[in-house]
Amino acid sequence: MTSNPVLAELAHEPGVLSWRGGRYLLIRPETLAAVQRAVETTLGDAAAECFAAGGRAGGGRAASHLAGTPAERVERLIAMGSAIGWGEFSLDALTADRLAITVRRSPFAEAYGASSHPVCHVTRGVLEALTETVFGTRWPARETACLATGAGVCRFEAVRPPGR
Ligand SMILES: [Zn+2]
Repeated sequence: MTSNPVLAELAHEPGVLSWRGGRYLLIRPETLAAVQRAVETTLGDAAAECFAAGGRAGGGRAASHLAGTPAERVERLIAMGSAIGWGEFSLDALTADRLAITVRRSPFAEAYGASSHPVCHVTRGVLEALTETVFGTRWPARETACLATGAGVCRFEAVRPPGR
C-alpha cells in the first residue's frame, strides 16, 4: 500500500466526511452500477449523458480548486482520481487540443460487469469538467476503450472543439 494524500487529510465528524472543505462519501461501486443499469433500462442510450452530467458536476468542483499551469492541474486531478479510488489514472497525452488518459481498474467498469459498450460515463464527465475548468471551454470526451467491454484498461480522449 502506498501513502494516500487524500486519506491523510480526510476529516471526519459524526455523519460527515470532508476533504479540504468539500464533502465526500464512501459508496460501493455496486450501488452506482445498479443505479446506472436502472437508468439505462428507463432511458436507453440517453442514460450515458446523465452519468456524464453527474461527473461534470463533481469534477467541476474538484477541478476548480486546483492551482498551477494547465499541465499541473491535469496531473493533480488525475492524481486525485487515483487517490480517491476511481482507478489508477495515468496521463498519456496533453497537447494544446488533446487530452488522453488511461485508467486501470475502473471501479465503475468492475462493478458494472460485462457490457457491449463503455460504461465509465462518470469518469468521462469528470474529464470534460477538467478541460472546461483548465482550458476555458469544454472538450467533449469519449471513452475509447473500457474494461467492461473486454479491454484491459479504460482509455479516455478529450479533443478541443474546432475554433474554440
Ligand atoms: Zn471504462
